[in-house]
Amino acid sequence: MKPAVLSSLATVAVVGAHNIGPLYPRQGSSGAPAGTSAGSAAAATPTSFSFSLASTNPTAIPLGNILSNAPSQPTHALPSTFAPGTTPTAVSGAPALPNAALLAPSAYPSLDVVVPTGSPEVQQWIQDVKNSGVVIPNIAPNAPGGCPNNTVAAADADKSRCWWTCTGCVADTDIVDCPDKLTWGLTYDDGPSLYTPDLLTFLAANNLKSTFFAVGSRVISFPTILQTEYMEGHQIAVHTWSHPSLTTLTNEQIIGELGWSKKVIKDVIGVTPTHFRPPFGDIDNRVRAIAKAMDLTPVIWTRISEQATFDTDDFDLHSGLTTASHVLQNWNYIEGNATSSNFPTGFILLEHDLFQQSVDIATGYILPDALAHQPPFKIEPVISCLNQPLNNAYLELNDNSTNPPPISATTVVTGSASATGSSGSGGSGGNGSNSAVSTVGFPGLGPALALTLTLLSGTTFLLL
Ligand SMILES: [Zn+2]
Repeated sequence: MKPAVLSSLATVAVVGAHNIGPLYPRQGSSGAPAGTSAGSAAAATPTSFSFSLASTNPTAIPLGNILSNAPSQPTHALPSTFAPGTTPTAVSGAPALPNAALLAPSAYPSLDVVVPTGSPEVQQWIQDVKNSGVVIPNIAPNAPGGCPNNTVAAADADKSRCWWTCTGCVADTDIVDCPDKLTWGLTYDDGPSLYTPDLLTFLAANNLKSTFFAVGSRVISFPTILQTEYMEGHQIAVHTWSHPSLTTLTNEQIIGELGWSKKVIKDVIGVTPTHFRPPFGDIDNRVRAIAKAMDLTPVIWTRISEQATFDTDDFDLHSGLTTASHVLQNWNYIEGNATSSNFPTGFILLEHDLFQQSVDIATGYILPDALAHQPPFKIEPVISCLNQPLNNAYLELNDNSTNPPPISATTVVTGSASATGSSGSGGSGGNGSNSAVSTVGFPGLGPALALTLTLLSGTTFLLL
C-alpha cells in the first residue's frame, strides 16, 4: 500500500451518467464498489468516495474548489514560446515552424460544427480516399444516442462492425495500451485551451512528455499553444475538427472531420500527425477503414471490461456530473488495475486539458501521485510507449523502413475492409522518401502499428 498522505471522503448528491463508461468498480446502479476502502456492502445510492494519494502538489487548487461552478482562474503564460522559422529539435528533419499569425480562420470551416463536405478540400480528400484502394465497409451511420439507440448495430458490435463503444471491440490496428508493464501512455484530449499552459508548465517542470489529441476548432483558437506542445517534444495527434461521434457521420463527413484537423495541425506546426483518437472512443470498422485510407492510426484507451475503463472521468468535473473525489477514486482504481499482477501490459489513460477543473486535478493530484508511485511508472507519449521514435508520430518524418505505411500492409483492417497495396492515397508522396516535408495532400507515409490488443475478459481479477 502507498502511504496515504492525503485522503478524503466526499458526499455527492448525484452520480451522473457518463457516455464513455465508468471505471471499475462502478459507482452507480450496481452499488458501492466491492473490495475497496469505500466498503463492499451493497448500497442503492452510493454517495461517498475514498482515495489515497502518495503525493500532491503543494500549490494545488484545493479539492473543494475544483467545482463545476468555480470562478474562472487566471490564465498563465506558456512555459516557452517559439518564433516562426525556428527549427524543431525534438524531431529530426522537420521543417521550420510556421508563422501562426498568418493563420486565417476564414480559410477553415466554422468552429465546433461538423464540416461541410462540398468544399474543394473535402472533395479532394474524398477522391484521395477512393484512390487509396481501401474498401470502406458498407455500414450505415448510427443514429445519435449510442448503443441503446442503435440496437441492431449494437447486436453486431462485436462482429463485423467491431464497434468499440458498445463492447470494447478492437481491431488489430487499434492502439489501446502500451506493451511494457508499468508504462503509461500519457494523453490529454480536446485542447488546446486557456488552461493548457498550466499543464505544459507542470509537465516541463517534471520533464514529462504527453500526447495531445487536438481538436481542430481549438487549434484555430490557440495555435501558439499547439506550437509549444510540438516544439517541447510532446506528440501531437488528431481528435477531429468538431468532436462528433464519428460512427454517426457519413463517410464524407468523417473524411472532412479528419482531413480538416490534419490540415490545420500541419498548417500550424508544419507536419501531419499519424495518429488520431475518435471522440468518445466511438469507432467501428467503417471509421477504421476511412482513417486507414487517410494514414491515421487509431488510439483509444485501455479497457479491461465495461466496468474497468482507464478513464478518470475528469471531463465531467466541469459540468458537475462528477466530483474531484470521485475522479481521484477512479484514479486509484486505475493505479490498482495497472499494477495488478494480472494485468500484463502498460496502459493508456483518458484525460483532458479543455477545462480548468481537469487541468487542476491532473497537475494538483493525479500527476504528483503518479510521480511518487512505487514501483515507478514510466510516463511518456503514446508513440514512445510503443517503443517508436517521436518522428513516427508525423507523416512526413516517419521512418518507412522500420515502420511501413498501413495502406501497403498485407493485413486488412477487419471485416469487409481490404487493403490493395496502393502506395498512397494521393499519389503526391511516395513510400521511399523520408523528407517530403513540403508535400501537400496525403502522401501515404503512415505507420503500420500492428500492436495487438490484450483484451482481458472477466472482472474478478480486478478486485484490488
Ligand atoms: Zn474528446
